Amino acid sequence: MKITDIESVILRLPVVKPIGDGCQTVLIIKVHTAEGITGLGECHANPEVGKAIIDARLHSISSCGLKELLIGEDPRDINRLWDLMYRRTQSWGRRGAVMYAISGVEMALWDILGKSLNAPVHRLLGGARKMDFKVYASDLAPDKPGGSVKIATKHRRNGYQAVKIGWGGLGGDPRADVKMARDVRRAVGPDMDIMIDMGFPVPLSDALYLGEALAEHGVYFLEEPLHSDDLHGYRRLTEASRTPIATGEKDTTQYPFIDLMERGGLRIVQPDLARVGGITEMMRIATHAEARGVRVIPHCWSTDILVAATLHFISTLRDCPYLEFNATDNPLRTQLLKEPIRPDKHGVVRVPDKPGLGIELDERTMKKYRFEP
Ligand SMILES: [Mg+2]
Repeated sequence: MKITDIESVILRLPVVKPIGDGCQTVLIIKVHTAEGITGLGECHANPEVGKAIIDARLHSISSCGLKELLIGEDPRDINRLWDLMYRRTQSWGRRGAVMYAISGVEMALWDILGKSLNAPVHRLLGGARKMDFKVYASDLAPDKPGGSVKIATKHRRNGYQAVKIGWGGLGGDPRADVKMARDVRRAVGPDMDIMIDMGFPVPLSDALYLGEALAEHGVYFLEEPLHSDDLHGYRRLTEASRTPIATGEKDTTQYPFIDLMERGGLRIVQPDLARVGGITEMMRIATHAEARGVRVIPHCWSTDILVAATLHFISTLRDCPYLEFNATDNPLRTQLLKEPIRPDKHGVVRVPDKPGLGIELDERTMKKYRFEP
C-alpha cells in the first residue's frame, strides 16, 4: 500500500467564542492511499497550526511537514512511520503542536490498517476487554454558579450517570466552587458521579482547600487544579487531597506522564489521543500507568472521530471507568458522522465494531462548515 496524499480540512462554526470549548473549530485529517482506502483522523490543536504542520515543506533533515514525509510510504507501517514523524520534526517538534498533528495522522493510519484487514482497531490492539462504557457528560460551567445545577440536572434527566462541570466561572473563588459542587450534589442525589475541572491553574493553597472541601460532596476527581509542569505542587496536593486529582489533557508524549505519576503522585492521568501522539503513544502511557496502578481516563472533548479512536483505545484497558463525552450542543460534534456516537438512555456507549475506527463522515456537514484560512 502507498500513501498518495494527506488532506487536512478545517471545520469552523460561524461564531467562535473565547470559551473553554476546543470543538468550535476542528481539523479533520484524511490520509489517502493508491488502493482507494482513506483513513480518518483528527488533530486537536489550533486547526490552522495543525494544518500548517502537516502541509509544511522540507526545511532540513530534522524539519519537514508530515505530508511530504509520508507520501509514498506504506501506511500500515505505523511504528516506523511514527518514528519517522517524530525524528524528522525534532528541531521544531518533540512536544506541543507537532505532536498534536502527528496524533491526527497516526489515528488515520490505524483506520487504514483496520480497513485493509477488515478488522476494528481494538482488535488490532490485542482485543477489547470491555465493549460498553459509561460516559460522563462533560459540560462547561456557566459564569454564574446557579447555572451548574441546571446543567447537571439536565444530564441526570437524560440518563447520564456522571457529569463533569469545567472551566467557565470556576477558579475565581474556591468557596464559590465548593458551594457549586454542594448544590450540584444536592440536586442530582448521591448516585451520580460529579467531576470538577478547573481548566486553568489556581494557587496551591486554593487547590489544597478544594481537595479537602470537595471530598465532603463526594467529588469523583478534581481536574487540572495546578499547572501541568508544577510537579512539586502536584506532589503536595496528591499527598494531602482526599479528592482524587486528575490531569494531563494538554501534555504530549509519554514523558510528562511518567513525571506526573512518579514525581507528581497522580493516580489518574488524562492523555488526549488527538494530542499526545496518537494510539501508539496512548498504549505506551497505558503500560506505564497500569504498571503503577494508575488509572487512564482519557481527555476526549472533540468530534466523534476522537470519540471513536478513544473508545477503541480504552476498550483495551484493564480499568477505565468512564469515557469523557462532550455533552454540549454543537453540530461539529453531533452531525459529523453518518452514524453519530450517542450514549443510550443509561448513559452508556458501545465501542465501534466495524473495520478501522468504524466511522463514516457526513460529507454534508464537512461541506457546510468547511473553512479556508
Ligand atoms: Mg479538562
